Amino acid sequence: AAALRDVGSLIRGVPDFPSPGILFRDITPVLRDPGAMAAALRLHLDAVADLAGSIDRIVGVESRGFLFGMPIAHALGVGFVPARKPGKLPAATVTQSYALEYGEGTLHMHADAIDAGDRVLLVDDLLATGGTASAAARLVQRLGGEVVASLFLIELPFLKGRERLAPLRVEALLPF
Ligand code: 5GP
Repeated sequence: AAALRDVGSLIRGVPDFPSPGILFRDITPVLRDPGAMAAALRLHLDAVADLAGSIDRIVGVESRGFLFGMPIAHALGVGFVPARKPGKLPAATVTQSYALEYGEGTLHMHADAIDAGDRVLLVDDLLATGGTASAAARLVQRLGGEVVASLFLIELPFLKGRERLAPLRVEALLPF
């Protein structure tokens, strides 16, 4: 609980970013502090400890989902797959669009990145409406994989992303 408080105290609320009225939760102060970064990684791993040995792949969502997604994959001894914004992945992709507050977002994944039957843990830094995570989950499913859980450092419960992702298992360390 102390470690969780320490990590939480380093998450900075930045008003009016990226647009007026939004309070952006900035995780970079956690990343630059080696003790907090290690504590945050440990807390992520503790939340999915029961999945060790039973997942095949981590999918991390561009770009902050890469930051903890990769060390989590390394710690669990599984591979890492990036879900990326348009125009970034070089080989053939599958693509999924999703609604944003204003407009539309799109995620891509390499078409050969998930093998049929892969058990996947989805990782991102923050769960808001759940639109991003559900698009990433959809990509995994379309490639024949099974998303067994999703894992976030931060959850904004008032945006009800957890309900949107249901019945998918959601682990989130810090509600704001
Ligand atoms: P959602 O699709 O759940 O509405 O939004 C979550 C996505 O937007 C995540 O990929 C997350 O990185 C990004 N995001 C939205 N708001 C914030 C925020 O306040 N802080 C951070 N770090 N990411 C955010």
